[in-house]
Amino acid sequence: KGTIKVTGVSKVYDNGVVGLDNINLDIAAGEFVVIVGLSGAGKSTLLRSLNRLHDVTEGSIEIDGQDITKASGKELRNMRRNVAMIFQNYNLVKRATVSRNVLSGRVGYYGTWQSAFGLFTKEDQERAVQSLTRVNLLDKYYTKARDLSGGQQQRVGIARALMQEPAVFLADEPVSGLDPKTTKVVMGDLKRLNEEDGLTVIANLHSIDLALAYATRIVGLRGGKLVYDQPIENVKETD
Ligand code: ADP
Ligand code: ADP
Repeated sequence: KGTIKVTGVSKVYDNGVVGLDNINLDIAAGEFVVIVGLSGAGKSTLLRSLNRLHDVTEGSIEIDGQDITKASGKELRNMRRNVAMIFQNYNLVKRATVSRNVLSGRVGYYGTWQSAFGLFTKEDQERAVQSLTRVNLLDKYYTKARDLSGGQQQRVGIARALMQEPAVFLADEPVSGLDPKTTKVVMGDLKRLNEEDGLTVIANLHSIDLALAYATRIVGLRGGKLVYDQPIENVKETD
């Protein structure tokens, strides 16, 4: 679980801007792929496509053999459950507690009658405890998200994403704006999930040094095109 096959994917935005241009990418379960490229290269567009936060214009994206570009309704929800995402700005509810933020990652919760009252099952709460333990933040369970540092907020984002028990983990600029020490902690969390749980990780990063330190494979984008794709052992710093 956790394979991704991108075939001939292009994304043209409504205003005519080409976000992605004929991308082909085959990712095996357990890879740690880092996507590098300048601002505007199409990195976020690619990640958003993999989670179907938007539709692509052309091509197919198979997650574990199922094409998410054609799925709808229940089928799409089931596929999405497999693919978790964290964001550059963390996307937490700042005035809510850490536990509430993490619990909100439980798939299928919103829209149930329980959600109107903020009721969670014992099982959900146990899973939230486990998720927070994975990122070493269990002691912040009752803390409000706004009282955490940026790095801690991103780790809460990781814990929230873990609530859906994903096979694929997408990280869109997860450490931009964090200091080097905090960056190491957040990247270390992602690396542990990759190595210990076998999650496929795909992260957009600005820094080539970070890519070299954590990736098993580096993919380069430029102007929406895939211009580089190498396993880490083949990467030379002069590339
Ligand atoms: P980044 O370079 O970190 O991906 P951007 O500044 O390019 O961030 O984009 C920030 C937000 O603005 C994103 O949600 C993106 O979808 C949107 N956006 C970027 N470029 C355009 C554009 N040309 N027209 C409309 N929205 C855009
Ligand atoms: P990156 O993540 O590498 O910075 P993006 O994927 O955000 O690049 O953007 C790729 C291109 O698509 C850029 O030219 C950007 O301005 C454009 N773009 C991104 N989001 C939107 C949007 N919502 N509407 C229109 N254009 C967008």
